[in-house]
Amino acid sequence: MTPYISIVIPVYNEEGNLERLFGRLYPVMQNMGRPFEIIFTDDGSKDRSLEMLKNLAASHEEVRVVEFNGNFGQHMAIMAAFEISRGEIVVTLDADLQNPPEEIPKLIAAVERGHDVVGSVRQKRQDSFARKSASLMVNVITRKMTGMQMSDYGCMLRAYRRNVVDNINRCSESSTFIPALAQTFATNPGEVAVAHAERVEGESKYSLYRLIRLNFDLMTGFSVVPLQLFALLGILTSLFSVAFALFLLVRRFVVGAEVEGVFTLFAIMFFFIGITIFGIGIVGEYVGRIYQEVRQRPRYVVRRVHGAADE
Ligand code: UDP
Ligand code: MG
Repeated sequence: MTPYISIVIPVYNEEGNLERLFGRLYPVMQNMGRPFEIIFTDDGSKDRSLEMLKNLAASHEEVRVVEFNGNFGQHMAIMAAFEISRGEIVVTLDADLQNPPEEIPKLIAAVERGHDVVGSVRQKRQDSFARKSASLMVNVITRKMTGMQMSDYGCMLRAYRRNVVDNINRCSESSTFIPALAQTFATNPGEVAVAHAERVEGESKYSLYRLIRLNFDLMTGFSVVPLQLFALLGILTSLFSVAFALFLLVRRFVVGAEVEGVFTLFAIMFFFIGITIFGIGIVGEYVGRIYQEVRQRPRYVVRRVHGAADE
């Protein structure tokens, strides 16, 4: 029977959470009374996660496991699961139980009301202050830069209709951000409020560095505003320096040549050199990604798919 709902879960070193996650998720899905499937992607875990997932796949016909050849990141893990998903509605979820599985019916209901993409907004988010402020900053900047209206980019508890997932599957970019990608294909996006829990076991897989990298993906993947801002800044600076040169010219005739202020000059210079390097860096971010795309290496490597028919 083709499933009506596909649950997609990326897993990276989550041995402490998997049992509890499945223990809560499975009854929720059974109670919904619709055919469903659960697809886990093991993103190159180094702990017992893969083994536990394989056991789940062996004992439950609804469960399939995509086994990656290494760590390709959360978004690639979701992509790979999307490719083999069959449900009319596809729900993504984190494995760490920060998104309560009990909220899934709420998302499904919203899709059935006519939304083709349903995001979720975390009520009383349970993360550290630093993590929350970082996310707040990201959310605001992304909204400004990409022009997409989404209250909570980071929350992965989301539901998508089949046609949106099919469109995502046609994208072959190797660095991406699924919620933003989905948003570009959405015709009627909706949002629901969901609860958010603290991570119980293990720790967040995102260090500050990885978080920054991810945000560059988001920024460069969905907007060229950073480049345009720099072009604009360049124009403004040139205009200003022309005005300043004119001012100095006039001043030279009126008051005479100026000699002091060498260090002020240095300060101003360093400031502009800093901005220039920053600008080159931003261009580099785009160029690097272009390079990544033109090489056309596989985005991820699936070693095997376990479960069901054992394709
Ligand atoms: N994850 C993954 N590959 C990675 C990093 C994370 O598949 O390289 C998974 C992880 O197992 C979890 C989800 O992505 O299911 C979200 O990760 P995490 O909870 O560490 O992120 P945070 O909640 O801090 O944003
Ligand atoms: Mg988490």
